[in-house]
Amino acid sequence: MQNRRQQHLSYIYAWFLVFVTPFAVPLAVITAWQGKVTKIDILCAFTMYCISGLGITLGYHRLVTHRAFQAKPWLRKILLIAGSFAMQGSPASWASLHIQHHRFADKQHDPHSPHQKGFWHAHCGWIFHGYKPDFRRFGKWLPKDPEVKHVSKYYLYYSNLGLLIPWLLCGWMGLLWAGLLRLFLTCHMTWSINSICHRFGKRAYTGTADQSTNHFLIALLTFGEGWHNNHHRHLQMPFLGHRWFEIDMGKWALLILQKCGWVWDLKIPKHFTSYEKSNSTL
Ligand SMILES: [Zn+2]
Ligand SMILES: [Zn+2]
Repeated sequence: MQNRRQQHLSYIYAWFLVFVTPFAVPLAVITAWQGKVTKIDILCAFTMYCISGLGITLGYHRLVTHRAFQAKPWLRKILLIAGSFAMQGSPASWASLHIQHHRFADKQHDPHSPHQKGFWHAHCGWIFHGYKPDFRRFGKWLPKDPEVKHVSKYYLYYSNLGLLIPWLLCGWMGLLWAGLLRLFLTCHMTWSINSICHRFGKRAYTGTADQSTNHFLIALLTFGEGWHNNHHRHLQMPFLGHRWFEIDMGKWALLILQKCGWVWDLKIPKHFTSYEKSNSTL
């Protein structure tokens, strides 16, 4: 599933995301200053941010990596395609490398720990290192999953839809705001989970064998992913916000999808009430 062509592709995407998309920030400011941006362009950018962000947290992370719930095949495919709009790799390789992160969290073989090779390596430097997913050790089920297989196979096309759709809908301003600027924001937010949420923030579960933290602002902007210490404590728990004030928009989306009957079998631990005390036995 991860051939040489995909390795080259991920390297090109890494350069594009880290060195090209930042130019969208001043360009977006200038176009806004000149009054060239319409409300529709901004709405398109906001919508694409939500679609790709929810695709990453619900599709790539909670559904495929941690198998935290079951979903209808068509919904699985939609969530994975939405996640591919963030250009963070195919679902198969993303999930496998993330499982490796959990297996070695903040230890030597963690692909992106700020405690091993520094903050910037953890943030976005690691994506240039060509880490290869090892499906035999991390995510044996991934190559057998039909939706993961499909979206990973056509990842090149699906990921570029995230740029094509805004361009078709809103022209060049759509490409700038909902394509490039949105990609810049989505990626830096996801990358912040690896860098900021393993160094700064609060540790509600102090007993986890890693340095993961919870960060309110990151959680707000990543649809719940910023409750990363909670997540490291309960890997298969589909909800990342564990206390009533921990806003987890991914959880809200899952509850709506559950009401519709499109997702089920949410793996909420039996003993889990609303929150376990910080120093509970781990
Ligand atoms: Zn995880
Ligand atoms: Zn982590």
